[in-house]
Amino acid sequence: MQKVQNKIMLITYSDSMGGDLKELYEVLDTHYEGVIGGVHLLPFYPSSGDRGFAVINYDIVDPAFGDWEDIRRFSEKYYLMADFMINHVSIRSEEFKDYMQNGDSSPYREMFIHWDEFWPDGEPTEAEMEALYRRKLQGPYKEFTRDDGKVVKLWNTFFEEQVDVNPWAPATQDYFKRNLEHIAQYVPLIRFDAFAYATKKPGTSCFFVEPDVWEVLDIGMEPLQAYGTEMLPEIHENYKVQLKMADQGHWVYDFALPMLMLHGLMTGRTDRLIHWFNICPRKQFTTLDTHDGIGVVDVAGLLEESEIDLVRDKVNEKLTEAQQYIKRPAGIVKMSGSQAKQYQLMSTYYSALDEDDEAYLLARVVQLFAPGIPQVYYVGLLAGENDLDSLKRIGEPRSINRHNYTTSEIKDRLKLPLLQRLYEIMRFRNSYPAFDGTIAVNDQLENGQLEITWANEAYETVLWADFRTKDFHIAYNNENKMKVVL
Ligand code: BGC
Repeated sequence: MQKVQNKIMLITYSDSMGGDLKELYEVLDTHYEGVIGGVHLLPFYPSSGDRGFAVINYDIVDPAFGDWEDIRRFSEKYYLMADFMINHVSIRSEEFKDYMQNGDSSPYREMFIHWDEFWPDGEPTEAEMEALYRRKLQGPYKEFTRDDGKVVKLWNTFFEEQVDVNPWAPATQDYFKRNLEHIAQYVPLIRFDAFAYATKKPGTSCFFVEPDVWEVLDIGMEPLQAYGTEMLPEIHENYKVQLKMADQGHWVYDFALPMLMLHGLMTGRTDRLIHWFNICPRKQFTTLDTHDGIGVVDVAGLLEESEIDLVRDKVNEKLTEAQQYIKRPAGIVKMSGSQAKQYQLMSTYYSALDEDDEAYLLARVVQLFAPGIPQVYYVGLLAGENDLDSLKRIGEPRSINRHNYTTSEIKDRLKLPLLQRLYEIMRFRNSYPAFDGTIAVNDQLENGQLEITWANEAYETVLWADFRTKDFHIAYNNENKMKVVL
């Protein structure tokens, strides 16, 4: 099994580049040698919704995608990341079905959080309700009728097919241990999906509640220790939360970068970006795009409200036609004590940059030079445009950025000069030793310019860019210490 390496990680569904894991492997093997070093395979287990995030059972790979042997084959060539849902399971899981069938005598009863037992008075007060950090406008619960006829109201943060679990219940911890030990045999890195919602305590926001949140992470990591498996906690919150987690030694996501980069390229400014590069965690995975929307809450404080609005308005402008197809609010979050806000922008990264090749290439190149290991989502790898047909068909706002590419569509896109140039630079990022050294970001330049240097003994590479003209060049020392322009 390959361990985590400082090489670009592709994020993809099992059926998004070709129809299944075998085709995905072929596509990567044939066209992406050296371009990617790791793969985040989005949930590949049987699931009843949320495109894989309502897991029924971690024991098998969804037969529509392949089997564990396929996963093993990937793990021998790429370092892999797989998801584990710390906060919820599918309502079609054996554990939940057992609870519905056997009611109070089910061994899994305590895995689920009963709304009336959770609140000291059986129901939250108005103030407790107001304090909740919510992902939907109504309350985070759902009613179920058990086979014995009793109606129970259970905690449900996200979608219809998911039900939250109590990480402190012994039955949940057994469930975590059994499944995590299994997954750890195949992957060196596990993403703890939406873990911050697992800290529920009356009177709080029930989101990233300290110190409980550190305990939840410990509970999840305990079964992984014997395998040396690492963990990437997934949370969209203010960048300060990522800094806090990095202080504890965890890997983190750079979810502030996507908005900072858009702002820089839309305004021709680099000051916000440079500030971030100088303070951001070093042990992080950078993103511009993922299977979710472009995170807005993550960047507050690094961009002013008016700067965030500017980016949001420009991205949303392209969505005028799309709005009519969206069946649920696009990424709304009800923040504690404040109004509901747009939480994520719905767009491919290429469309967010108005499908401007020069701006898009520059965004990616800067990401490749930023502190951390770059992640590239498959739609971004192919410079995909907003997929209005999927949106129309599915109604899920995020489907705008989840187009499934057939192998022949991929072959067509590979001819694009934009992509050929991008892959050349990605190969360089994966193989040039300076990226294992130290970074210096010049903060003395005129606003609009950017200069990033990576150095490691005799190896040195410099990216120079101008966000106003979108010009850039990359220079590096070859083995004879001669300067070469890429
Ligand atoms: C995942 C989303 C998913 C949610 C619930 C997230 O943070 O990235 O795609 O809908 O967790 O599992």
